[in-house]
Amino acid sequence: MEWEAVIGLEIHAQLATKSKIFSGASTAFGAEPNTQACAVDLALPGTLPVFNEEALRMAVKFGLAIDAEIGRTSVFDRKNYFYPDLPKGYQTSQLFHPIVGIGHIDITLEDGTSKRIGVTRAHLEEDAGKSLHDEFPGMTGIDLNRAGTPLLEIVSEPDMRTAEEAVAYVRKIHALVTSLGICDGNMAEGSFRCDCNVSVRPKGQEEFGTRTETKNINSFRFIEKAIVGEIERQIDLIEDGGRVIQATRLYDANKNETRSMRSKEEANDYRYFPCPDLLPIVIDEDYIDAVRDSLPELPDARKARFIEEYKLSDYDAMVLSGDHNLATYFEIVAKAANDAKMAANWVMGELSKHLNQNDTTIANSPVSAEQLGGLVERIKDNTISGKIAKQVFEVMWAEGGSADEIIEAKGLKQVTDTGAIESIVDEVISKADKQVAQYKAAEPDKRGKMLGFFMGQVMKATGGKANPGAVNGILKKKLDALCD
Ligand code: ADP
Ligand code: MG
Repeated sequence: MEWEAVIGLEIHAQLATKSKIFSGASTAFGAEPNTQACAVDLALPGTLPVFNEEALRMAVKFGLAIDAEIGRTSVFDRKNYFYPDLPKGYQTSQLFHPIVGIGHIDITLEDGTSKRIGVTRAHLEEDAGKSLHDEFPGMTGIDLNRAGTPLLEIVSEPDMRTAEEAVAYVRKIHALVTSLGICDGNMAEGSFRCDCNVSVRPKGQEEFGTRTETKNINSFRFIEKAIVGEIERQIDLIEDGGRVIQATRLYDANKNETRSMRSKEEANDYRYFPCPDLLPIVIDEDYIDAVRDSLPELPDARKARFIEEYKLSDYDAMVLSGDHNLATYFEIVAKAANDAKMAANWVMGELSKHLNQNDTTIANSPVSAEQLGGLVERIKDNTISGKIAKQVFEVMWAEGGSADEIIEAKGLKQVTDTGAIESIVDEVISKADKQVAQYKAAEPDKRGKMLGFFMGQVMKATGGKANPGAVNGILKKKLDALCD
């Protein structure tokens, strides 16, 4: 039987506010446990939440960027459950009246086609604390630094049919929230994570199958693997006569498999009710217009500008605009080098290759955009060849330093002094009787192709530093002189 997958995603984006959503405690990552949890975050009796307006502005920005309905009146609800890292006994969230209603984004797939994906809603909520199981043998520690960190939960329609579509959607949302400046997008630190709802159905069937939800996946690669694996698991299960059980699953990246964590709870298990400590948020058109006026350039507009302003191909523009940090990096390189095409090639080629190999992201690149720009500039002005530039890049990546410093220190400057090149050419020719004889014997219009051998020898003798154009000219002149 032919099967079709149905995928819907819930993304938690941590909003980049300085303080928490209902308290003045800092949201900075990496502090000593429990040093950023104030009385409100600890849920001490008698404390009251005060809503952080910055979180509202950020949520509205997102809503406008996906063409969504903005809730003129949104309400915080209590989602009640017990967990040691949740001292209040409930999470303050939004169920019935979210700040962002129905919207959509367009994704582009590898084959160039695009598809519109519906966003059901996006609501504000607070994060919980963190249980630390490994620090203390036999005990669990609780770190409440993260408690009260503002989140925007973005819920998609079940509109995706393949893992590829799902990853394209997550990447697009990531590019959006980082371009908007409302989330740092740091997946390793948990600032952007994804729950994947997956079901399968016989192709052609209208009704959805039973879904599972795999929680908190924090890398694009794991999202893809978890979805592919879960689709396979469900199909195998059904084909073996079993039935999918609606459950919450955990993705284990080490084993590349999902496993059941608990059977699925329903909204009414949480006894949602409006939070009596917080007033409804009421916003008017002026507020929304002001936020709209403050929107920066968004990924689709940036892609169009890359094609228009830098004359990039559609594909290059798509890749470079697909990640906010990558796009910003590329523009700095392009401006420094004054050559967009060459800048694009280096960013998408050598730089991306190194980032992938080292499993790191552009935000943590040891080579800054200014450094790479300086390197590309030296290729352009013929100080070094593209080949030598790769050597310089290796040094830059491993040890730092500007292109000029490395070129100077390692003596990599291109030899353009024709006198120096001529004597090397003479030497190469004098040692290559056989190839010179072949050159002479060849038809004049075939000789051009035979230069390669001599070129290679000269480059070898100069450690790749001779200016290729100059070498070519001198070689031709000298060899042709021998033929007369
Ligand atoms: P809950 O709040 O219980 O997780 P929702 O109805 O809000 O449930 O849906 C959560 C996510 O699951 C949404 O992204 C939605 O698109 C997706 N979803 C719902 N039904 C299915 C299904 N049968 N297969 C795949 N995804 C689904
Ligand atoms: Mg859910």
